[in-house]
Order: sequence, then structure tokens, then C-alpha cells
Amino acid sequence: MDKVITYIGLGSNLQQPAQQLVNAIEAIKKLPQTNFIASSCFYRSKALTLDHEPTPDYLNAVVAIETQINPLSLLDDLQAIEFSQGRIRTEKRWQSRPLDLDILLYGNDVINNERLTIPHAEISRRDFVLVPLVEIAPDLEVPGLGKASGYLASCQETGLEKLSAPETIS
Ligand code: ATP
Ligand code: CA
Ligand code: CA
Repeated sequence: MDKVITYIGLGSNLQQPAQQLVNAIEAIKKLPQTNFIASSCFYRSKALTLDHEPTPDYLNAVVAIETQINPLSLLDDLQAIEFSQGRIRTEKRWQSRPLDLDILLYGNDVINNERLTIPHAEISRRDFVLVPLVEIAPDLEVPGLGKASGYLASCQETGLEKLSAPETIS
């Protein structure tokens, strides 16, 4: 099987978010049958909330890998990384979490099953996904949607702030 270029969105708003992202990137680099291609800068965003509870800001990033791991196994591997970094899964959507890893794109595949929606359902609507994605892949085409950069002007704004090198972020 050829390697497929895959984009993963990272988010954290608990337990030292910058360190969480650094650790997650290290874990992604160790995945089998996978080459690491690139990481975006880290960005700070205001949390999306359902109940207007005060919620810590998120740090976000996007990484590109090329991998022979199939999509469902990749989801298993990413969820194992989430759990190893303290994620507790509840039914509540958008809960604060030490680590969230979403598969944004898997090559040009379009997948809709009970565990996976790829491209990620919100890819064109979230600035904290689109901005780092376009940073590392300016000409990226999203299956069914066209150029990712074409959605930058219309996506939801979360006060996104680009941060400097990860080691300087607390
Ligand atoms: P959102 O999907 O809106 O960003 P979330 O990341 O908070 O919300 P989670 O609680 O992390 O949602 O995940 C819920 C379920 O979403 C996962 O168990 C997984 O099966 C499913 N899922 C569907 N598509 C994807 C995808 N592309 N990447 C990761 N998980 C996905
Ligand atoms: Ca998510
Ligand atoms: Ca998720």
C-alpha cells in the first residue's frame, strides 16, 4: 500500500497545553509505517462552548504525515495517544480536554461511517483548523469542498492568535 498524506488537527486546553501538543507530536512521529512531514505553528483560540461556562483557551496545531495505517486503525492509534495523555471520554461534546486529535483529511478519501467522518465535518468552518492547515498546505484541496484557503474569510472566528516557538509557550 502506498503512503497516504494525512492531516491531523491537535487541540488542548488542560494540563499544560503546549507540552500536551509537543508530546502528541512526538507520539505521532513514532507511529509505525508513518513519515512525519510538517507541523504548523501553535495557535491560541477561544473555546467553543455549548453552555457559556468559563473555559480555558485552547492551543491548536495541525500536522501532516504520510502513512500506511488505514483510517480506522489511525483513529485507534490517535485515541490511544489521547488517553495516554490523560483524556477521559464522556458523552459531552466539546468538553475541556488535555488532548484532542482529529483526522482532518486522509488523502482524497471520503469516509462516512459510525466512527469516522473524513474530511472532518467542521474543517471549513473553524479558523483554528483552517489557518494552521493552510499554513502548512497553502494549495490544499479538500475533497468535495475545493481549496481550503477559500474558506478562510468565511469561517467562524475564535480570536485566533499565532504563537512563537513551542518552547517559549507556557
Ligand atoms: P468535533 O468532532 O466537533 O471536533 P470532538 O473532537 O470534541 O468534536 P470527540 O469527543 O473527540 O469529539 O470525538 C467523538 C467521536 O468522533 C470519536 O469517538 C470518533 O469516532 C468520531 N469521529 C468522527 N470523525 C472523526 C475524525 N475525522 N477524526 C476523529 N474522530 C472522529
Ligand atoms: Ca475536535
Ligand atoms: Ca476529537
